[in-house]
Amino acid sequence: MAAKRKVSTKAAQEDLNFRNIVSAQFDNAAATLDIPRTLLAQIKVCNNLFYCQFPVKTKQGLMVVEGWRAEHSHHKKPLKGGIRYDEHVNADEVVALAALMTYKCAIVNVPFGGSKGGVRINPRAHSEDTLQRVTRRFTFELASKNFIGPGVNVPAPDMGTGEREMAWMADAFSALTPTGIDNLACVTGKPVSQGGIRGRTEATGRGVQYGIREAMADKQALKYMGMSPGLAGKKVSVQGFGNVGYHAATLLHDDDDCVIVGLSEWDGSIYNAKGLNPHEVHEWRLEKGTITGFPGAKTFKSPLAALEFPCDILVPAALENQITMANADKVKCRLLAEAANGPTTPGAEKILLSKNVYILPDIYLNAGGVAVSYFEWTKNLTHMRFGRMEKRLNELDKRMLLDGIENLIDRKFEERLRAQLTHSIDELELVRSGLEDTMCTAYQEIREIFFRRRKVHDMRTAAFACAIEKVAASYRALGIFP
Ligand code: NAD
Repeated sequence: MAAKRKVSTKAAQEDLNFRNIVSAQFDNAAATLDIPRTLLAQIKVCNNLFYCQFPVKTKQGLMVVEGWRAEHSHHKKPLKGGIRYDEHVNADEVVALAALMTYKCAIVNVPFGGSKGGVRINPRAHSEDTLQRVTRRFTFELASKNFIGPGVNVPAPDMGTGEREMAWMADAFSALTPTGIDNLACVTGKPVSQGGIRGRTEATGRGVQYGIREAMADKQALKYMGMSPGLAGKKVSVQGFGNVGYHAATLLHDDDDCVIVGLSEWDGSIYNAKGLNPHEVHEWRLEKGTITGFPGAKTFKSPLAALEFPCDILVPAALENQITMANADKVKCRLLAEAANGPTTPGAEKILLSKNVYILPDIYLNAGGVAVSYFEWTKNLTHMRFGRMEKRLNELDKRMLLDGIENLIDRKFEERLRAQLTHSIDELELVRSGLEDTMCTAYQEIREIFFRRRKVHDMRTAAFACAIEKVAASYRALGIFP
C-alpha cells in the first residue's frame, strides 16, 4: 500500500480552486516561453463575464435561476464553448473553463476564441418542461446581451446538456432573429434533423479514443509509462458514464478490444476484473436508473472508487477535481486520459508524475467535441451537406479510371478496387476522418514539445505552451504586440 501523505487543509483547499489551477497551469507553461509579459497578460485574462438571474414558473411554484457565460478571448470570432447544467456551477468555474476552451481551440487549430456557460440547476431534479423553459429563457438572456449568435458566440453541449437543449436554444434564438439566414449556426451539437452534423454526439468520446491510440503507439511515451504498445487487452476504468464517458468506453471496448474493468456514476462505481460490456451496463441503467448492482460486477457506493481500480488506463469523464491529493496515491493507472475538464488537481498531478504516469491533458484530449462543432458550424454557414457537390463527379472519375485499368489487373483485385473506389464517402466518414487527423496532428505537436524541450517536464505544460504560442501568434499578427 502507498504511504499516506500528510496534506494540510489549507493546501488541500488551494489545490481545489479550479480558476487558480488553470491560472497556475498557464503560468507554468508561460515560464518556458519567450513571450513578453504584456502579451501573456492579454492572453491569460478573461475578457467578459455575463451573469443573469431569471424567474421560471414550474409546477412546484416559481424558482429563480442563475446563469453565466464567460468569454475568455476575442482573438478569434466567434467564441465557442459548452453550456453546463449543474447545481454547483459558479463564476469561477465558467471563467476557468472558458480559458481552457481558448487553449483547446488553439491546440486543435480551430479558429475560435474560448467561452463557457453554465446554469445553476440540477437537470436530474427537473421535468423536461421546466428544463425547456429554463433553456429558452437563458437563450433570451444571452441574446439580449449579444452573448449568442453565429458570428459572436456559439454554445455547445456540456455536462447536463445535450442535443435536446441545443435544439431548444437554436429555436429560441431563431424566434428572436426571424430573418437570420445563419441562425442554425448559433449553437452546435444540435440533432442532425435540426442542422446538426453526423458524428457530433460521440465526437468528444471518439476524440478521447484517438488520443489514447496515438499515445499507445508512441514508443517514447510507452517507455515513459512502462507499457507495451497497442490497446487490445488493456484494462480501462472510466469515471462518469454520460456522453463522453459512455462513448469513450464503448468505442475503446468495441474498436480496440480494451477490457473495461470499471465504470462509475454519481451514485456509485462497478468493477469486474474480467471486463464489463458497456452496452449491457447502458441497458441496465436504462432499465434500473442506475449502473450500480450490475450483475456480475462488484458495486461500490463511492463514485470515486473507479479512480482507484487496478487498470492500465484511467479515463475520468465526469467532473473537475476528482483526482486530488487525498486519492492520487491510490490511483493505479499508467496512462491518465483526462476526458473531463480539470479532473486532476495540481497536487495530485505532482504525485502522479512522480510515478511516471503519462497524462493526456484535458485541453488536448477532450477537444474532439469542439473540432466537430467547427465542422457543424461550417456546414450551417455553407447551408450544404459535406461532399454533396462533388459526390457524383468523384464517383464518375473513379469509374472511368477503373474502366481504363480493368484489362490490366486480375479480376479479384479489380473487384476489390472497384468496391473501395466507388464507395461514396458520406458525412459521417468525413467527420471521423477530420476528427482523427485533428487529434493525431495535435498529439504529435504536443509530444514534440514534451519530449524535445528541456524546460518542459509534462504533457500538460507542453499542451499549454503549444496553445499559448498559437494564440500569441494571432495577437502578434494584429501588429500591436511585439
Ligand atoms: P454528461 O452530463 O453527459 O455526463 C457526465 C456524467 O457524469 C453523467 O452521467 C453524470 O451522472 C455523471 N456524474 C456526475 N457526478 C459524478 C460523479 N461524482 N462521479 C461519477 N459520475 C458522475 O456530461 P459530458 O458531456 O459527458 O461531460 C463530462 C465531462 O467532459 C465534463 O467535464 C465536460 O466539461 C467534459 N467535456 C464534454 C464535452 C462534450 O462534448 N460533451 C466536450 C469537452 C469536455
